[in-house]
Amino acid sequence: MTATTPEPTHSSGSVDQADRTVSTPGLPLPLVFDEPPRRSKPPRHLADLDTAARREAVTRAGMPAFRANQVGHHYFARLVDDPDQMTDLPAALREPLAEALLPTLMTPVTVRSADGGTTRKTLWRLHDGTLVECVLMRYPDRVTMCVSSQAGCGMACPFCATGQGGLQRNLSTAEIVEQVVAGARSLQRGEVPGGPGRVSNVVFMGMGEPLANYAAVVGALRRLVEPSPSGLGMSARGITVSTVGLVPRIQQLADEGLPVTLALSLHAPDDELRDELVPVNTRWKVTEAVGAAWEYASRTGRRVSIEYALIKDVNDQGWRADLLADVLLSYGDWGWVHVNLIPLNPTPGSRWTASRREVEREFVRRLQARRISTTVRDTRGREIDGACGQLAATGG
Ligand code: SF4
Repeated sequence: MTATTPEPTHSSGSVDQADRTVSTPGLPLPLVFDEPPRRSKPPRHLADLDTAARREAVTRAGMPAFRANQVGHHYFARLVDDPDQMTDLPAALREPLAEALLPTLMTPVTVRSADGGTTRKTLWRLHDGTLVECVLMRYPDRVTMCVSSQAGCGMACPFCATGQGGLQRNLSTAEIVEQVVAGARSLQRGEVPGGPGRVSNVVFMGMGEPLANYAAVVGALRRLVEPSPSGLGMSARGITVSTVGLVPRIQQLADEGLPVTLALSLHAPDDELRDELVPVNTRWKVTEAVGAAWEYASRTGRRVSIEYALIKDVNDQGWRADLLADVLLSYGDWGWVHVNLIPLNPTPGSRWTASRREVEREFVRRLQARRISTTVRDTRGREIDGACGQLAATGG
């Protein structure tokens, strides 16, 4: 894929600093932490608001505050946003309440299915024309929504389709939540084979670096776990936030009181290679990122997942498996960590390919020999470009 030149960015603090280097085709993309300036914001939506703000929005629109909870119940518990179906509300108030709290945030452009219809990738158009994708994956025992937190991504990982397109903008809290609600609706309506069901898991592994859009992502986490009428009432244990290792934000997340699972995309145990594969490593090194993940596990009691995409002849050598074990075990072996190996999803025109099967098996064997819990992720959705690192919102 060709490199692109992102819009100029601004900086505003320790994490929120952008590398102002302008990319040149063929050279690595710059790291971009802040979204480019934009003309319009997404409309304010119920899912952007906490309880107090919801009530205030309703009273400002000239209606009694308790109506906010009724609308919240329709949206989060019944998954309804059509005012005609809110029959407990006075007919004259339905439209004004929906206008105040439930503007249309996104419209579907395409839905592509795989795995007999149990994997569905939806391409959405947002209010300003921005395109984002999410993927629903139904398994026998759970339904997982993989959501996007940004349109594009500024982290510039060279093997990732999303990263090669640069960062367009952050998504709002409601734009993130609405991806989950839309998936929940399609399950409720029986549109996914297997009968009506519920979303049990959410993984922030679609487009974007979630911790680079921190406030909106934490807002979305609160909406996902709070019970109706404030949220979807999901278990935090079913939610995974993935990061390439924005260390100050990992520390901040541990303070939020939201025991979600943290997934650190490590992809290399040594700085020399990780500087290339995960360019944010030039800012926070392997030991800093793994140390922050260990601290997260210690403080939240949640086991951290180390994500490691196995890339043929790049990071899949046996000695790197041993080094990965050394790095992780240097923090103790109390079960704080799990390694999730990901067969790389090939992206068109990319020189990066998946490791050979026997190499993958040897990598697993070496980690397990050191008693590190290790699994190999299945590659669901690969045929519809819906697997990790393949969401590029190309409309395909
Ligand atoms: S791998 Fe994740 S963090 Fe890296 S560029 Fe892709 S979406 Fe961004």
